[in-house]
Amino acid sequence: MKPTLINNLEFAKNTDAISHDIKVDSCLRLSEFITHDASQASSIHYTLKGSESQFHLPSLALSIKAKLSVLCQRCLKPMWLDIDLAFQYVVADKEPLPFEGDEEVDWVESAREMNVNNLVEDELLIAMPLGPLHTHACTPLVKESLQKPNPFAVLKGLIK
Ligand SMILES: [Zn+2]
Repeated sequence: MKPTLINNLEFAKNTDAISHDIKVDSCLRLSEFITHDASQASSIHYTLKGSESQFHLPSLALSIKAKLSVLCQRCLKPMWLDIDLAFQYVVADKEPLPFEGDEEVDWVESAREMNVNNLVEDELLIAMPLGPLHTHACTPLVKESLQKPNPFAVLKGLIK
């Protein structure tokens, strides 16, 4: 899957807009956290809009909607993670001074070829919970050995 590259400053100035799906398999870092079960196909959709009037600076608005299949860390069965994110970025050569009363605004470095797929993947990685759990009370999968230590293993450890 070809990444989407944009000249982010031009994109903002021209108030361009794009809306795409990204294949989860093409996000190598994110893929590690996803269960690749055919019956649970994850999806990522994003919309990127350029603006020049917002904050009186070239800026980008990114919204991401993702449905990811991950492993519940309690029962180790697949579960759906619904992620809905929205970001505003100012496009600048260097980090701008903090905006008055607007700490939610991020910035991206102006670039002729900004990889939009990478940006979306970065934001999803940050948003992913470290230990996703089913909202219902699922049955914990606990290894027997953790509950009751094998007495022979304990003995072995003492001999060493
Ligand atoms: Zn579970």
